[in-house]
Amino acid sequence: MICQFTQTITIKQITNNFAEATLTNLKNLRGMVDLLPAQSQCWQKVESIALDHFSRAGLQEIRTPIIEQTELFSRGIGENTDVVGKEMYNFEDRGGRSCTLRPEGTASVARSIVQNGLLNNGPQRLWYRGPMFRYERPQAGRQRQFHQIGVEFVGLASVMSDAEVISIAWNFLKEVGLNDLTLELNSLGSNEDRNIFKEELKNWLNERFDLLDEDSQKRINVNPLRILDSKNNSTKELLNHAPSLSDYLSKESKTRFDYLQELLDNINIPYKINNNLVRGLDYYSHTAFEITSDHLGSQATVCGGGRYDSLISELGGPKTPSIGWAIGMERLIILAGDNILNSKSPDVYIIHRGQKAEQFALNITCKLRSANLSIELDYSGSSFSKQFKRAYKSMAKWAIVIGEDEVSKGQFLIKKLRDKEKDKSNEEYNFSREDLDQLIKKLID
Ligand code: ATP
Ligand code: MG
Repeated sequence: MICQFTQTITIKQITNNFAEATLTNLKNLRGMVDLLPAQSQCWQKVESIALDHFSRAGLQEIRTPIIEQTELFSRGIGENTDVVGKEMYNFEDRGGRSCTLRPEGTASVARSIVQNGLLNNGPQRLWYRGPMFRYERPQAGRQRQFHQIGVEFVGLASVMSDAEVISIAWNFLKEVGLNDLTLELNSLGSNEDRNIFKEELKNWLNERFDLLDEDSQKRINVNPLRILDSKNNSTKELLNHAPSLSDYLSKESKTRFDYLQELLDNINIPYKINNNLVRGLDYYSHTAFEITSDHLGSQATVCGGGRYDSLISELGGPKTPSIGWAIGMERLIILAGDNILNSKSPDVYIIHRGQKAEQFALNITCKLRSANLSIELDYSGSSFSKQFKRAYKSMAKWAIVIGEDEVSKGQFLIKKLRDKEKDKSNEEYNFSREDLDQLIKKLID
């Protein structure tokens, strides 16, 4: 930016002004936040869990520039969305090009895939992370520079890919130690389904125009689906009686959505159908989902995603079915809290009493560690009940209990301490010493 001085200022004055400014005025911009050393440890921990989780899921990382041509977002995300209409950081560079600080990652990833011909190598399973920029009103969990970590499966159409992509987000958040999460799920149907519905909804809303809040009134003709997502109470009440997109899904779209639910049931991922979930960006079709938490106040969504089968063709590439999600790192860190730093809970806590039991306990500890399980061995020699207390405190998932009697019979007990969803369970099993393979299978199940 070129500064124009309207009056002559001496060098001395400038220096003085600068010193003053340094002390009093120079602050970070509103909504742009420093990550201080005390917090960076939490971020590193979450990022290392992500890295590990994604590499086990066979994903590869992609890094794209933070600045792109404005047109990428206006075409990719849609002119009528809040992000493009109100929230983008646009500027002209010295060559007169309209540039934008990226407000999200998917459009850039899609551009890079097309530009670099990555689809010639087959479908792409990618992840990314980094700062995003949106000019919004800053509040807890909402910043102008924030960070996302995201996953994109590009070139895959099957419902199984929807389920896998959702499972990667869900299991990653669980691995970070988050509980009380809700997966909200909807089908936005095909473009044709949505176009028919949009017209019906528009007519229905226009008939009730005066009952809508001002924001929704403005949206009727430009982006009527977004009204379904309104946070205004009286509009929300009115919408309870509005036509529902679920009634406008074609037979194929319905079958697809039913099958997704069956796949999620099969991998024990709980979900809640939310027919009003539409997502803010234009490019979604069929599956749309959000993962929310009750502990985030009004910024409740930690992860948002969905299927975007027409984005890449919209950007000039071939027709490429795709699905992905993005997690807001700041909200994730708020939820994880400092616990994340102490979260290295062992898989198994070993409780034992007596000398023979001690030998066996050490023996099984070494064997289970070789099988990649993390084991904490009790050293207190105290009563079983006290050792159990310590085992619960360690947050281990299982306890192995070894007493002298059991050792002489060549047996031991395993007890589940912590269930994924419940705090405690009564699950327990007897194992014989020879059943090591079975035992490992049970412990990592
Ligand atoms: P919201 O309704 O909260 O504005 P969104 O639908 O605009 O969310 P997405 O574009 O789906 O958000 O982005 C995915 C995730 O990124 C969100 O679920 C949230 O966790 C995070 N996120 C989005 N905008 C911000 C922001 N301004 N500050 C912090 N995190 C954000
Ligand atoms: Mg938003």
